[in-house]
Amino acid sequence: MDKKTLLRKIPSVNEILNMTEVQQWFSLLPRPLAVKAIREVLEELRTGIRSGKYRDVRLEDILSNVEKNIRFLSEGSFRPVINATGVVIHTNLGRAPLPVSVVQRIVEIARGYSNLEYSLAEGKRGERYDHIRGLLKDLTGAEDAIAVNNNAAAVLLCLSALARGREVVVSRGELVEIGGAFRIPDVMKQSGAVLKEVGTTNKTHLRDYEEAINEETALLLKVHQSNYRIIGFTEEVPIEELVALGRRKNIPVMFDLGSGCFVDLSEYGLQGEPVVRDIIKKGVDIVTFSGDKLLGGPQAGIILGRRELIREVARHPLTRAVRIDKLTLSALQAVLYLYMDTEKVKEEIPVIRMLLQDKEIIKKRAQKIIRALKDNNKRVFLKLQQDYSQAGGGSLPGISMPTYVVAFRIEGIPVVEIEKLLRMGSPAVVARIKEEALIIDPRTVDDSEVALLVKALKEVINRFV
Ligand SMILES: *Cc1c(COP(=O)(O)O)cnc(C)c1O
Repeated sequence: MDKKTLLRKIPSVNEILNMTEVQQWFSLLPRPLAVKAIREVLEELRTGIRSGKYRDVRLEDILSNVEKNIRFLSEGSFRPVINATGVVIHTNLGRAPLPVSVVQRIVEIARGYSNLEYSLAEGKRGERYDHIRGLLKDLTGAEDAIAVNNNAAAVLLCLSALARGREVVVSRGELVEIGGAFRIPDVMKQSGAVLKEVGTTNKTHLRDYEEAINEETALLLKVHQSNYRIIGFTEEVPIEELVALGRRKNIPVMFDLGSGCFVDLSEYGLQGEPVVRDIIKKGVDIVTFSGDKLLGGPQAGIILGRRELIREVARHPLTRAVRIDKLTLSALQAVLYLYMDTEKVKEEIPVIRMLLQDKEIIKKRAQKIIRALKDNNKRVFLKLQQDYSQAGGGSLPGISMPTYVVAFRIEGIPVVEIEKLLRMGSPAVVARIKEEALIIDPRTVDDSEVALLVKALKEVINRFV
């Protein structure tokens, strides 16, 4: 059949809308969206015919694609995803999954009124930061603390409040870009502070900082290198020495920690992330970090440090523009409560649990997935392999954690097609491709998600074999 005849065989949107099997799907989706779903399918078919991809027009195929599209749209564009990448803090996949108990707190606060900015003891206005201030002080040893929208906002705010119109000394090796166009030099510009770069890319000495200090200097800033690492002939100034210099010159020292970890991961062989409490103990005056990286909580930017500096930051007008909302605050408070019980942290904070997970447990989960999918079909290949997972989110840069993965292939089917079907499926599954196989890393798949993951994989297998 030639292309013109095929194009003429495509039914109209109205013809499809009037079919009885289509009517029932409208319960899933408002009518205008259903029309859009049908249009999209017909348009894809038209394009496919023109390019020669399709050589037939079959009503069953059209209806099945319309149904799939309607179901896809009815679930909404923003929905849960199974993270089979093994990247624990995956920024594109929403960073830290929250503990169930924390989610319950959000629901309790969200559904009604709360004492967000009201002191129940005194019957008058209170401060939203009071709900986390005490916990953060106890957990880190800092004199005072507030929390804002995210760590990018925390850095911008601190620089604006403490260094506008004055100089901030930073090592050249720390002028990093953290995904999503957050670049230290740009943030500095936005804050109105003047960047004073010192040292070279690979080496910065204490005397470099010392020589850069003058009467215009407002801050000495240290930035966690996050997503990159300089190796080889390198030197950076230990934070203790920077603090000592700051003291001598009477200039506050600020440290953008990026991740901000409360657990000493080096005890478990994961080196490179300082513990917030240790950094405060070393005398750093202002510390900022994210709520949803290694802390494993909601998106937030936490600012800790000396009382008078935190007061100054809290008073700045930008604080109001980047303030933390009540749902996030409720989640942050609940996560901080969990940290008060060190025994519970490793089990109850998903990010920490996944990072420290024994690889034998991951192996068992991988084997379970393989067992559930084995049906002796000669075209389906499932192999248990050793591989590595990443922390992600700029945390623990350069560290790979040994894991076990399932390598999945279907003979004759390009792996990119399998990867796409899974990602478009229900539930959506995101995995990575390596050497013509789909790699499923169960480190980041919760036990409660295994059955759903198996179902999604079965659907893909059934489609091709
Ligand atoms: C991640 C990161 C930020 C940005 O934090 P967000 O919470 O994502 O805004 C800033 N600085 C460093 C060093 C980081 O690693």
